[in-house]
Amino acid sequence: MGEKNWAGNYEYTAERIARPRSVDELRDLVVASSSVRALGSRHSFNDLADTPGLLVSTADLPGSARIDEASRTVTVGGGVRYGDLARELQDAGWALHNLASLPHISVAGAIATATHGSGDRNGNLATAVAGLRILGGSGELVDLRRGDDGFDGAVVGLGALGVVTEVTLDIRPTYDARQRLFAGLPWEAVLSRFDEVTSAAYSVSLFTTWQEETVSLAWLKELAGAETPIEDDFFGARALTEARHMIPTMDVRNTTEQLGVVGPWSERLAHFRFAFTPSNGEEIQSEYLVPRARAVEAIEAVSGLAPVIAPLLQVSEIRTVAADDLWLSSAYGTDVVGLHFTWFRDQAGVEAVLPQLEAALLPLGARPHWGKLYVDRDRLVPSLYPRLADFAALASRFDPAARFRNPFLTRLLG
Ligand SMILES: Cc1cc2nc3c(=O)[nH]c(=O)nc-3n(C[C@H](O)[C@H](O)[C@H](O)COP(=O)(O)OP(=O)(O)OC[C@H]3O[C@@H](n4cnc5c(N)ncnc54)[C@H](O)[C@@H]3O)c2cc1C
Repeated sequence: MGEKNWAGNYEYTAERIARPRSVDELRDLVVASSSVRALGSRHSFNDLADTPGLLVSTADLPGSARIDEASRTVTVGGGVRYGDLARELQDAGWALHNLASLPHISVAGAIATATHGSGDRNGNLATAVAGLRILGGSGELVDLRRGDDGFDGAVVGLGALGVVTEVTLDIRPTYDARQRLFAGLPWEAVLSRFDEVTSAAYSVSLFTTWQEETVSLAWLKELAGAETPIEDDFFGARALTEARHMIPTMDVRNTTEQLGVVGPWSERLAHFRFAFTPSNGEEIQSEYLVPRARAVEAIEAVSGLAPVIAPLLQVSEIRTVAADDLWLSSAYGTDVVGLHFTWFRDQAGVEAVLPQLEAALLPLGARPHWGKLYVDRDRLVPSLYPRLADFAALASRFDPAARFRNPFLTRLLG
C-alpha cells in the first residue's frame, strides 16, 4: 500500500485505508472487516495503529464541536485535531487544561495513548475525558460516561475497543499564559531540588542532550497573573532574551510565542504553532514515564548512558504528569516524570540502544509511551499495568470477534 506514519519510519501493512464520511459508512466498513483499526493523524512511531486488514481514517468523520456550558464540557468528533478544537474553544471563551507539544494530533488518537503535556498538577490529555462514544466490533454505538463501569479502562484504549467517534472533554473558562525560556540550568539544581524546579510554573519542560555541563533549556509556561512570577534567574539559569527552538538547528518560527508575551492558552500551551507544519520525516521518538519517586535515579541512570545515546539523539525533554486512575495510563496510580527522546531517524541505531536504556528504566517502573518506539525485550511492560487483565476482558466485551486485535495488542495482552 505504501502508506506511512507522520515520521515516515513505519509503513502500514494494511491492505488499504478507507476514509468514511459518516458513522453509518464507518459501521458498514467495521462489520464487513475481520481485521480493522482506527487511524488518527498518524503521529505514532510504531505499529500500534496498524492492522493486516483495513485502516479506517477518522479524518473525514463528522467533527463539529458542541459546547455545553452547564456541564462545562465540549463534545467533538474523535478525528478532530487539538489545534482546531483549541481555536474553536478559545473563540467561544473556553479552554482545555493542557495540550501536548504538537497541536496537530487527533483527539481520539492522543487519548488512546495517554498523550500528555507537562505540569506537576496536570493530568495527561486523557484525564479531561468525561465521555466517549465508541463503535464496537459488532457495529453498536456505546456511550460511556465518567463513573460508568469500564470507563476508566476505555479511555486510554489503544484502539482496542473500537472506533471512538465522539469524545466529551472537560473545559474551563479561557485563560492566558506566557512562556519563558531559561538557559543553563545546573544539573545540581535538577537533582537536588527537583520538586521545586518542576513545580515553579504551570508547566515546566527541561531540554538536554545529557552531555552538556548544564540542562540547556528550562521551558516554562506560566499562567498570566501567577501569584509568584518567576524572576530572570531560575535556579541559576538565565532568562533568554531571544526566542529559541529546543533543537538549535531548527526554525524558531515553528514554536509558539515566547519571551513572556502573554497570550491565550491555545497559542501558548503547545510548544509548536498549529499554523506551521513541523518538519517531518526527520525524527523518531521514545519516552518513558517514571514514577516520580524514582525520577532522580532515572535521570542519573540516563546521564550515565549519555555516551551511548548521544550519537543518535537530537534532544531529550523531561516533563511531569499528575497521577490518574485510567487503567492503561502511563500515570496510572502515580505521579510520573516523562523522559523523552527525540532521535535522528536511524531506526536500526535507535532499536540497538533502546535495550540498554530500558534495562536502566523499566526496572524502576518506567512505562513506555504507547505511541512511541520501545522494544521491551524482556516483556516487562505488561507487569507495569495492574489492570491489564481487566483491560483485556473489557476489550473482548466491546470487540468479541477481535476485529481490532493487531500484533501490537497480541504482544501486550498475550
Ligand atoms: C512531532 C510529535 C510530537 C509529539 N508530541 C507529544 C507530546 O507532547 N506528548 C505526548 O504524550 N505524545 C506526543 N506525541 C505522540 C502522539 O501524541 C501519540 O502518538 C498520539 O497517539 C498520536 O495521535 P494520532 O491521532 O496521530 O494517532 P495514530 O498514530 O493515528 O494512532 C494511535 C493509536 O490511536 C488509535 N486511534 C486513533 N484514532 C482513534 C479513534 N478515533 N478511536 C479509537 N482509536 C483511535 C489508533 O488505532 C492507534 O492505536 C508526539 C508525536 C509527534 C509525531
